[in-house]
Amino acid sequence: MAVTRRTALAGGAAAAVATTARPARPRASGARDVVVVGAGVFGAWTARRLQQAGRRVLLIDAWAPGHARASSGGESRLTRGSYGADEVYTRMAWESLADWRALSARSELPLFHRAGILFFFPQMEDYVAKSVEVHRRLKLPTQVLDRAAMARRFPQIDFDGVEIGLHEPEFGALMARRAVQTLVAEFVAAGGEYAQAQVAPPIAGSGPLRTIALASGETVAASRFVFACGPWLPKLFPDLLGRRIFPTRQEVFFFAPPPGDARFGPGRLPGWADFNQGDIFYGFPDLEGRGFKVAHDAHGPPIDPDAGDRSPSPAALAEARAYMERRFPAMHGRPLSEARVCQYENSANGDFLIDFHPERPNVLLVGAGSGHGFKHGPAVGRYAAELLTGVRRAAEPRFSLATKGEVQNRAVH
Ligand SMILES: Cc1cc2nc3c(=O)[nH]c(=O)nc-3n(C[C@H](O)[C@H](O)[C@H](O)COP(=O)(O)OP(=O)(O)OC[C@H]3O[C@@H](n4cnc5c(N)ncnc54)[C@H](O)[C@@H]3O)c2cc1C
Repeated sequence: MAVTRRTALAGGAAAAVATTARPARPRASGARDVVVVGAGVFGAWTARRLQQAGRRVLLIDAWAPGHARASSGGESRLTRGSYGADEVYTRMAWESLADWRALSARSELPLFHRAGILFFFPQMEDYVAKSVEVHRRLKLPTQVLDRAAMARRFPQIDFDGVEIGLHEPEFGALMARRAVQTLVAEFVAAGGEYAQAQVAPPIAGSGPLRTIALASGETVAASRFVFACGPWLPKLFPDLLGRRIFPTRQEVFFFAPPPGDARFGPGRLPGWADFNQGDIFYGFPDLEGRGFKVAHDAHGPPIDPDAGDRSPSPAALAEARAYMERRFPAMHGRPLSEARVCQYENSANGDFLIDFHPERPNVLLVGAGSGHGFKHGPAVGRYAAELLTGVRRAAEPRFSLATKGEVQNRAVH
């Protein structure tokens, strides 16, 4: 392989990612059209879209774009088009992929690895049939593979008990934290204002919101406000969202592949998910030498994003290792290189929330990524900006506040 500057950097050279937006206080003067609170993937894309629509935007985060405890702060996130019958998410993922690729092409370090995605299943099931139907309609180049074909193409996986798979060659892995940082840096370079500040919770009252109070005691005025605060949304709007967004504790583990063994790199191993009779495990190839990542997709216990313990649990580690060693025999006994505790911010069924506050007509709520939101950031940002600027008249029912239940019953996978 020819080593270009880009591949050398991607290979793990200790080059600084010159993408971190400079933290500053919000400027005291200057009219702003919109303040976006939260510089995770949803807030960053919303701010960028509003800026591209000609709005003067202030983007605020209490810590930093894609910081360690934000849901967007992980190393990597899968992007894929398979969503069963939930075509709305297939469309958004496909539309977003073009934006991610374009952003990655503008970035010094890669933000997207086109590793492909392989979902595999114990037998033909409705999810597979519906995904294929949607993909054919949208002309996605997804392939249906039987067990023998999968075993030939991906011999590092033990497909025992697996009958069928969906291979999506165009999708792959997004470098999550880096992508958010790059996007915010682009927003700032284009004249957007980014500030490190905490909006003091809660946002109470009714009627148009004129100013928000910062924890520092300052206030910030704007015509409109977007709150894209991920798992912190229930803290800002406890009455409205306290029982509608459920942050859960999720653990991910990275293991070192065998030395000199290239079978676990992104050129050979795709991003994958094992549907495993509904008890999904998923993982990533060894991206940029950070390790083979594996996680259990089941919702963990409730977590407070500020106070929650971020130490990985021995039980979850043992579970991840046991799964990995069964499906990826060459990873048997390989050492753990890293572990992280993050949180999903789930709606009751997994649908996003992108809707106006029912009592605050100039406040847009954007969140409930529900463990699958990252890939959709570009489409969510576009959708939110269109709602806020009036280009889109009404919220899609699935994203409306009215459809957000109070009992967890996950339906979107
Ligand atoms: C382990 C794990 C694996 C995942 N895997 C995938 C995957 O493979 N593919 C996929 O598409 N998605 C995945 N997701 C889901 C995806 O990462 C999230 O849906 C998405 O990152 C949510 O982004 P967000 O912008 O809504 O929230 P966040 O990234 O949490 O951003 C919210 C921001 O708001 C800021 N904030 C909060 N309160 C305040 C305040 N009062 N004042 C100022 N700022 C404030 C926070 O500091 C934070 O930066 C995964 C999530 C996790 C945890």
